[in-house]
Formats: sequence, structure tokens, C-alpha cells
Amino acid sequence: MHLARIPLGLAVLLAGCGSSDPSTNALPASDASDVGLPPSDAGADGRDDSSTLDTAPPIPFPALTPDLPRLVKRASVVLPSPTFVTVTYSDNTNVDRLEAFADQLGDSAYWRETTSEYGISPAKSGPANHVRLTDEPPARIGLRGEADDETVLMTALVHSGKLPTPEGAVYVIYVSPKTKNVSAIGLPHHASANIDGKSIRYAIIPAGSADRTQDVAHELVEVATDPDLGHGYAYLDRTLMAWNTLFGGATEAADLCQWEPTAEYQDKEPGFEFYVQRSWSNAAADANHYPCVPAPATPFFNVTVPDSVKGITIAAGESQVVELYGYSFAARTDWNLHVVEGNAMIDGLWTDVGHLHLDLDVDQLNNGVVAHLTIGVKAAGNYHTELVTVVSSTAEEKHFYPILVLTP
Ligand SMILES: [Zn+2]
Repeated sequence: MHLARIPLGLAVLLAGCGSSDPSTNALPASDASDVGLPPSDAGADGRDDSSTLDTAPPIPFPALTPDLPRLVKRASVVLPSPTFVTVTYSDNTNVDRLEAFADQLGDSAYWRETTSEYGISPAKSGPANHVRLTDEPPARIGLRGEADDETVLMTALVHSGKLPTPEGAVYVIYVSPKTKNVSAIGLPHHASANIDGKSIRYAIIPAGSADRTQDVAHELVEVATDPDLGHGYAYLDRTLMAWNTLFGGATEAADLCQWEPTAEYQDKEPGFEFYVQRSWSNAAADANHYPCVPAPATPFFNVTVPDSVKGITIAAGESQVVELYGYSFAARTDWNLHVVEGNAMIDGLWTDVGHLHLDLDVDQLNNGVVAHLTIGVKAAGNYHTELVTVVSSTAEEKHFYPILVLTP
């Protein structure tokens, strides 16, 4: 623990909440430089702590600048003026609500907060963009590339002349329960298809999700910010290997927030009473606020390991101590801390585990407090890259931080 970083008041608080003896947490400067800490940190343990503590300023919130990822685009393709077209079949029992959702979404504070920084205007909809199909629903929507895939459905709908063609049209297709839908393995998703030389943007909402407006909100934020899949805001900063690994490469705006337990919520906006899903905001991250907006009322907290995003190299048979810096965006009680080898955010995504020994010196953390994680490499895994997820949690919230261990 770097006592020089922590004011006296907090040190007393720590003693009172059962954290371990700071002296046992002290790292030699050489360990600190191994994990790429700035030089000022590396020398901190050698200073005269007593004078620093007497004059230390109040600890700021956050205690240090967290290295959160930023969402970037590869080209300049966004949908600046979207119009939602709600498409339902006659057996949909929720039509009025779904149409109302599309009508109200574009003018909501939720939409403004999740999309305006990416150049998106308030979206439109309205009665001219409600399509209530009376046709027999398709028997099946296949996987991409199959003879009956979703582009067949979209082409038929476009050719039927039943779809309006407003500026920035986004067709929200609510699949009938009669349709066997295996598109995108039955998950809500968005895509675009080139039909008669025009990009047709759409979202496919499976029947089982029909009243999950949070799923629809997720897709519509993403269709606006990345309408043609991978040409808009769909990437994390190139250097952020660890974060990309944690997210399994699915890094559109809403994807980046969907794994947090508080991702889905019912908006408190008067007149817009639908469940929606928080979505990634670079502006919020830049301002040291909760990066998933609209933010919950409780202050965001997590850890950061400065300069670790490209990975920490540890050879088989060796170990290294990594410092986890706790931060929160306002004063709060201690949160729980634990580490998991593999992906603790997306279960089952990372199965190459069992190569590390992990030992954490504390099980609670707070702003400005440093935990020490000893990572021992038993043997290199199949990819010579091991993933550790640091989980900061309370009963309601969970925040994740990835550490990549490169095992040459
Ligand atoms: Zn998504």
C-alpha cells in the first residue's frame, strides 16, 4: 500500500474496517515498476510518510484517473436522423405498447444521453411508421447464409410495398411466435442488408423478447451508432487488448454495458415508462462518471491497474505482485473484491483456465486504497495468454476489470 497516496483520515478508516496492516502491503519499488506504474508511484514507498500524511490533501474522487476504454469508430457511418418503423404481425398481443415505445424513445432523455455524443439526433416514429402486417408470418427465419435467412424476409417486405421509407428508416421487426426463428441463434440483433442497391437497416426482435423493451432499446442505440455492423462505433481503442478480451470482441455501445447487473432499468422519466438498457458513453468516461448512461444514483467504483491493458508478462513457474488501485466517483462504503481466472463477466466465454495461482491480500476496497494481487503462473495455457477478471461488487452492483497475463 502506498501510504503517501492516502490521507490520514482514510488510513484510520482502513484500520477501523479490518483491512490488513499497511506495512505488510508495502511493495518494493522494483515490483511497482514491473507493472508499469508511473515513476512517482515507484518511489512512493521510499518517502518519509509521516510528513506526507500530515499535509496530504483530501483524497480526490476518483483517487486516480481510471483507464476505462473508449468506444471508437472505424469509418464515419452512423445514422444521424433515425426513424423507427415498428413492424408487427397480427398475432402480436403487445402492438400498442411497442408502437408507443418507438414513438416516445426518440424524444426521451434516455435517447439523448445514449446517442447524442455520437452525432445522433432525436429519432422519429409516429403513426405513419406503424406497420401492422396481416400476412401469414414466415414459417422460419434461418441463419445468415441459409436459403430462408433474414435477408429473404427483409427483401420480401421491401418488395411488398408495405414498408414506409422515411429518412434514416430502421425497421423493427417483431417476429411472430408462429415463426421458427433461428436468426442470430434466436437473440435480438440488428443488421443491414443491401436490397436493390439500398442499405436497409433493421432489428430482429424474437417473439420471446416482445415485451422486453430493454432489448429493443439496446438494438436501436446500436443501429443508430453502428448501422452497417462494424463501420460505425463498434470498437474499443486498438491498444485495449484486455478489455477486448473481456468483452469477447462484441463491443458496440450497448454491448459494453449489458453485463452489469444494473444494466436494465425502468426509466424514471415522466411520460417514458419503459424498461431500457444503459449504454456506453465516452463523454461520461472522460468526465470520470459512470460510463454506462443514464447512470445509476450510486457512485461508480472499480479498480484499475495502470498500464496493464496490453498484458503483464509472467513466465511459467514465476509470480508477480500486481497493484489494484481502488477508485470511486464519490464517497461510499467499502465494496467487496475478488478475482477469478477466466471471464467472470461473460460466463463460459473463456474456458482455458487452471494455469494461474491467484492470491489477493484483501477482500474489500475503497477509493484510494491499493490491493495486492499475487499472480503465479503454474504453466502457460493454450494461447500463452491468460485472463484474470477482478470483480468489485456490492449486493446490487458488479463492476469488472480485466488483466491479461502473457505467458511466453
Ligand atoms: Zn449489441
